[in-house]
Formats: sequence, C-alpha cells, structure tokens
Amino acid sequence: MQVTIIGAGYVGLTTGVTLAYLGHKVTLVDKNPAVISSLEQGKSPIYEYGMDVLLPKARRNISFTTSYAGIDGSRVILIAVGTPSKENGDADLGFLEDAVTQIAHSLSGTGYPVIVNKSTVPPGTASRVNTLVNNVLSGRGLSPGVNVASNPEFLREGSAFWDALYPDRIVVGAAEPSTRELLTELYQPIIEQNFTAPPSLPRPEGYNGPVLFTTNPLNAELIKYASNAFLAMKVSFVNEFAGLAELLNADIVEIAYGMGLDSRIGNKFLQAGVGWGGSCFGKDARAILYTAKKYGYSLPLVQGAIEVNNRQKKLVTSKIRSTLKTVPGSTIGIMGLAFKPGTDDCRETPATGLIAELLNMGAFIKVYDPMAMDNFQRLYPDLPVEYATDLADLADGCDALVLLTEWEQFKNADWPALRSLMKKNIFIDGRNLLDPRFMEQSGFVYRGVGRHVHV
Ligand code: NAD
Repeated sequence: MQVTIIGAGYVGLTTGVTLAYLGHKVTLVDKNPAVISSLEQGKSPIYEYGMDVLLPKARRNISFTTSYAGIDGSRVILIAVGTPSKENGDADLGFLEDAVTQIAHSLSGTGYPVIVNKSTVPPGTASRVNTLVNNVLSGRGLSPGVNVASNPEFLREGSAFWDALYPDRIVVGAAEPSTRELLTELYQPIIEQNFTAPPSLPRPEGYNGPVLFTTNPLNAELIKYASNAFLAMKVSFVNEFAGLAELLNADIVEIAYGMGLDSRIGNKFLQAGVGWGGSCFGKDARAILYTAKKYGYSLPLVQGAIEVNNRQKKLVTSKIRSTLKTVPGSTIGIMGLAFKPGTDDCRETPATGLIAELLNMGAFIKVYDPMAMDNFQRLYPDLPVEYATDLADLADGCDALVLLTEWEQFKNADWPALRSLMKKNIFIDGRNLLDPRFMEQSGFVYRGVGRHVHV
C-alpha cells in the first residue's frame, strides 16, 4: 500500500520504517531538512534499538522528503507531528493544523486518501481535522470527501520496534466501514504476523498478534489519554508508597513485588524512582486536565499523579543534602540523561530539574549517558556541566554519584573500581537499579528510593 507519513520523529520514523519493512511503500515527509538529509544518507536522526538493522532493510520501500508534492497517490496519510503543551496545559495543535492545511492544498481531487491522526490529540480533533481539510478542499473548488480517522500510538521509546511489530492492541477510530477496512489492510501483516521477524527483534514466545479494536474517533482519542494517565498514575502510586516505606524503614522493591503478584495489579510500571519524565506523560496529563476543566469537570487522580511526580523529583536533592552535608563546592556525577534507557530522548527528563537545583546549591556537576549526551547538549546548551567520556571519567573526583536512568551498562559497571576513583562515597540510586548490599560492600553509602537505609 502507498502510505505517506507526516513527521519523521520518534513515532513517524519508527512507524515508517516498520511499515516499509513489512512491504508497504512509504513516503516520509518532515519539514526539518536536517532530519531528511540525515535519513537520505541512511543515518537515523534518533537512537532507537533496532533502527540500525531495520532502516537498511526498509530502505528500498521508503523515500524521504520535505515536500508535500508527492502525497496525492497515497491511500493513507498518517500524521505523526508533535503536539506539545501550551502554557495553559492544552495541547498545541499548530504543527497538526499546519500539516493538515498543507495536505489539503496538495490533494488533486481524485481518489482521496484517508487522513489518520497518530499524534496524541485532544478528544474531538479528528472531527475538527475533518472540517479543516474539507473546508480547504471546498475553497479550492474540489469536492469535500476526505475521511479522517484516529489511530493512537502506544509505542514506548527504547522498545519502539518491539511495540510496532508485536503490539498488544491496535486501536482504530473510524466512522466509516471503508476506513476501518483500509486500516485493517494496512496493519494486516502485523495482525496476522505474516512477516519474517528480524533476528534482533524475535517474535515473543506465545505471541499471536494484537487485538484490533475498532471504535469511533472520539473514543480512540480518549483511549490514548486514559491509557497514559493510568500508567502515570501507577508509577506515582508506587512512588507515593515508596515515601512511606522509607519512613517506616520498609523496602518498596519487596512491597511492589508482592503487589505485582496479583494479576489484577501486575508488576509493570510499578518501580519506584525519581518519577516519570519524557515528552508524553506530563504533556498528556496536562492536556486531558485542560479538556476536563473546559467541561467544568475535574480529574483528581490525574492531578494527584502530577503532584506526586513533582514531589518525587525533589527527592534526590534532599538525599544529597542529608548524606553529603555540605553541597556547595562538592562534585556530583549524574549517571543518565535520557528520560529512560534505550533512547536518546531528553525531553522533560528528570535530569534537567535536578541538575539546575544542584547547580543552585553550589555543586559542580559532571554528567554521563551512553546514548543521550549529544541530544542533551543540543537541548540544554547553557547548562554549565562537564560531559564525561565514560563512567570512570565521571566517577573521578566525585563526592557523590546519582543514577537517574537505568541503563544496563550501569548495572554491570565495576563498582569497586569506580568507588576507588571518587573523593567521597555517596551513591544515590534514583531507579533502585543496584543491590544495596553489594553497593555497601563495594564501599558506598547507598541510598535508593523507598528502600532500607541501612542494609
Ligand atoms: P517528534 O518531535 O519526535 O517528531 C515530530 C516531527 O514532526 C519532527 O521531526 C518535526 O520536524 C515534524 N513536523 C512538525 N510539523 C511538521 C509539518 N507540518 N510537516 C512535516 N513535518 C512536521 O515527536 P514524537 O515524539 O514522534 O511524537 C509525535 C506525536 O506522537 C505526539 O503527538 C506524541 O504525543 C505522540 N506519541 C509519542 C510517543 C513517543 O514515545 N515519542 C508515543 C506515543 C505517541
């Protein structure tokens, strides 16, 4: 199937590469010439596990352009542009409206494609996009016959290709049976799992394909917000209990494990830590709160999830204060800048707020991340931090280390050797990644989140 994707970011690029790998003919349009020229040279502008394998394999079915000129022959146009937060919390639909307007001006009036919102957008947006595109077409003297569907994206950065090839569910929000059929055809290889799995992304044992759930666009849009709000709330819930566990000298890791054994609860998204970050949870929680407020309604659970998360982000500074005693003049090493492992995405990462606070307290900051250093530097060029070349360079001369991203590499580091390079021995484990006993045996004063202080 001929498919156009607007926006070659984390969602658009992984979706485009996946669909091309599955045999569709994909045109990826992005307004950023740097993104397109990098892709034309075979280089991904983002780090995502599996991209190095799938991008070359998808290459013969995919083309990259900054122009909307060639979109006319597509049967489906997927929109995957950013929908960032406005000051008031509402989703900023500027990129989406711009994309839709350009699409409407590029269609010729014969055999319209279906426009599909993959971006996370407030309830009612599919209907507004429908009005916008068809009004432009009418203004151009063309018949207004474009259908608009919602197909929210649930992929997780760091495992985006797993989620694209082996999703739990595909949600299609479409009013017309013909649109539902078209999107079912688009996702057929995934629904039926009739493709050769890449060796580095083998099909999970027992996996038989996703549930395809078709509904109307409004419900589909709300499924996305409700899902993200629920996940954010789950993390905030375990973080709320982590604070209590710490005061009682209990261990949240064991508590969460015991909770997760109940299949109604499950063990996923039940890890205590410095809180969620990234470009989605915060933005989407704010947007759905804004929508509710517009209707005179409140969402106290979603509001609470945000409040707990904000409180959680202050945790590290209080641990630093209590263990290090004098922060001014101390050297603190930050391990992990990406908002989660497996990605180089630093949008709304917990690292930025913490670094700013520690700098305000007079600390000298060194940072290290295996994948996200360039991205972090590009996003926050004015933060006066020293970029370490590796873990040993980071630990060298530090009074304290603070782990913020649970990279596998950090788990397997030579901790006694790193300890020997440090000036003092404080270790704050913001993700409860390491074993407290082992870390204390390695010579550290270890503080996790919601765990036994003394082991
Ligand atoms: P992103 O910022 O990584 O990528 C967006 C891309 O769109 C950019 O490359 C930008 O240059 C391009 N763009 C913007 N306006 C354009 C236009 N008019 N024409 C062509 N290109 C344009 O964003 P993302 O993280 O991929 O997120 C995209 C959407 O998907 C958002 O609504 C987000 O909430 C949602 N989403 C993201 C994730 C995730 O993990 N990143 C997961 C699920 C859903």
